[in-house]
Amino acid sequence: MTKTIAVVGSCMIDSIVYSSRLPKPGETLLGSKYEQGFGGKGANQCVTAARLGASTIFITSLGSDKIGQSYLEKLKQENIDISYAKIQNNSHTGVAQIIVTETGENSIVIVQGSNALLSVKDVIDARQKIQSASVLLCQFETSLEPILEALTIYQGHGTSIVNGAPAVSNVDPNIFKLSDIFCVNETEAEIMTGIQCITISNAQKAIDKLFSLGCNTVIITFGAEGAVHATQNNKKLVHTSTEILKAVDTTGAGDAFLGALAYYITYHSNLSLEECIRRSNRIAAQSVLKAGTQTSLPYRKDLPIELF
Ligand code: ADP
Repeated sequence: MTKTIAVVGSCMIDSIVYSSRLPKPGETLLGSKYEQGFGGKGANQCVTAARLGASTIFITSLGSDKIGQSYLEKLKQENIDISYAKIQNNSHTGVAQIIVTETGENSIVIVQGSNALLSVKDVIDARQKIQSASVLLCQFETSLEPILEALTIYQGHGTSIVNGAPAVSNVDPNIFKLSDIFCVNETEAEIMTGIQCITISNAQKAIDKLFSLGCNTVIITFGAEGAVHATQNNKKLVHTSTEILKAVDTTGAGDAFLGALAYYITYHSNLSLEECIRRSNRIAAQSVLKAGTQTSLPYRKDLPIELF
């Protein structure tokens, strides 16, 4: 049987403005460029895995607007199974308002729209597809009830990866417990652990806090510095560095990392987690070299052969 990755998560339409720097509160800046693009953490991660060659099914919720329809078409073109991608009546597709600076920094406000309507029933309807997947990949950009349901349904069926993004405080502890791998970036780790100014040198504290919340394996990504991880069996963090690249636009780097991680765990199950992270770092690095979110996600055909 073909191995699959099930993604339960969001679709957003990205509205991106490019500016020399981020505006201060109350300030208006003259930007240099505007673009609209397909985004949303769930979709970005699913598209990454699909472009690396994975067979994917995406459980998601779109608005009853034109964008919702064109998003469905887009997912089809990416060879993603959309049999459980649902159009919600009387709702707009989620929107992400993104500012990208000349140095590749970004700042984002999202409005969930139809993503907030993804329901427990939507997940239950897709039960068989979820349970037969080798990896279940979820994020926090929808309401969390369907995410908890997906993790509950999936328990004992394969590897669940939860990307705690955007950061949410007071997460149901069962979400931590049911995630085999819990992955956040440094900022999300700060919000979720209450520990300030997390760097690689004090990341162990954040990892230990996430363990105490119920997490099993923890990964924290650190942009150009790569990622750290620790497991229940080896709680001391391991740092996997990466080649530092001059970023054009880091939007979606974390999603590229997560989609790649799901791909490697599914299709290269002989590799250690550290090697999966090293390769995921390299896939994510590719995504910072181009502008945009999904437009910057790499295709297998353009990647070095040694990554496969
Ligand atoms: P997010 O996009 O969630 O903010 P990060 O900024 O931590 O996540 O980036 C995720 C991953 O993308 C990193 O672990 C790293 O592998 C890769 N990455 C990000 N920025 C760079 C960069 N400038 N050079 C190389 N790799 C990068």
